[in-house]
Amino acid sequence: MADQPNPFESLREQVDDAAAHLDADEGVLTRLKNPERVLETNLTFELDDGTLETVRAYRSQFNGDRGPYKGGIRYHPDVTRDEVKALSGWMAYKCAVVDVPYGGGKGGIAIDPSDYSESELERLTRAFATELRPLIGEDRDIPAPDVNTGQREMNWIKDTYETLENTTAPGVITGKAIDSGGSEGRVEATGRSTALAARETFDWLDRDLAGATVAVQGYGNAGSIAAALLDDLGADVVAVSDSSGGIHDPDGFDPRAAKEYKSETGAVDGYADAASITNEELLTLDVDVLVPAALENAIDGDLAADVAADVIVEAANGPLTPDADDVLAERDVYVVPDIFANAGGVTVSYFEWVQNRQRFSWTESRVNEELERVITEAFDGIIDAYETHDVRNLRTAAYLVAIGRVVDAYDQAGSWP
Ligand code: NAD
Repeated sequence: MADQPNPFESLREQVDDAAAHLDADEGVLTRLKNPERVLETNLTFELDDGTLETVRAYRSQFNGDRGPYKGGIRYHPDVTRDEVKALSGWMAYKCAVVDVPYGGGKGGIAIDPSDYSESELERLTRAFATELRPLIGEDRDIPAPDVNTGQREMNWIKDTYETLENTTAPGVITGKAIDSGGSEGRVEATGRSTALAARETFDWLDRDLAGATVAVQGYGNAGSIAAALLDDLGADVVAVSDSSGGIHDPDGFDPRAAKEYKSETGAVDGYADAASITNEELLTLDVDVLVPAALENAIDGDLAADVAADVIVEAANGPLTPDADDVLAERDVYVVPDIFANAGGVTVSYFEWVQNRQRFSWTESRVNEELERVITEAFDGIIDAYETHDVRNLRTAAYLVAIGRVVDAYDQAGSWP
């Protein structure tokens, strides 16, 4: 990502855009644009051949004014201190926009997990959990899965924490397997909120999602489930992609079968009769809905000029650069922002934590109903801000709602004499 925008600078620009509409004190504004603290550390762990390896890991705690820090842990070679800082800020504003009582956090290890065996990943993950132990806790900081991590890593972190603390504390981490204290509906939650966000946006625009064409970039947890649930809502998924390329069939295809094909072969390319396309071609396809569901900076200002979709629903965090936002606002393309569209993940993580604290499990239908309520209410709040204030896009409206809540919590806490 050498000549890509720094995601932390993108976050700061997004906060500035919204803060221009608020009467925020300069000191408070600085607080809204910087993490409270960042752990940056070495993790040394043993490889299967007995040698030692040291990698870099991070945890950023952005803002705790509304509750414990909350956010995922990512394993990816591009993880940097600034990326983690940006992601932690997006988490703080995401929790605020859907009114989940958490602050924002994020962590990551700069590795390609496919370079390691399962036992090496377990030793590495336990080394990270040991470093994190003083920072995390059910009421302090609650990690979760993100890119290239899932239930397996969450179970290891929970076990390490509980063993070292000599307690049981399933709420120290979310995204766990069901038998380890996970919640029904958590795996699907990010894709579910993305699909609900598309539905609410189409309702608001007085358009029919049934029959709308959809392209999805990134076919992991968020992208593949969003595609399946959009298909359930009657939309036609016509293109999907992963890091090795994409497929396109203008007549649409079954997104669940494409996912099955990817699970068997490792890639979507080659599925059924769909034509192979590049990721760039996918992002500029003439579709009704584009869902970026891979990584940051997928669409820059140049590419944004060629985007042909009417609505972009951000399943990924930070997939548009600030330049892309400018171009798309100018072209009247509706961008449903990440801090709202993919907030299903953290919302159901919150439900998982509530269930862990109550030691009582909810049914999947209760989880999904509560999620739908949270997402539709949050959408109404964003639209209210969009229509009340003279803001240029839905992102700025979402930040207005979120920043307002964080600032209120900070003000209400008062100051020490
Ligand atoms: P994942 O690892 O399950 O899937 C990522 C997918 O993106 C993979 O299919 C990968 O092949 C693909 N990809 C990577 N680079 C690509 C590229 N350059 N072009 C096209 N595809 C590419 O990860 P995920 O959990 O689905 O996360 C995806 C995005 O959603 C991230 O931005 C993440 O922060 C965000 N997100 C995830 C959750 C969650 O609960 N999983 C919650 C909120 C936000």
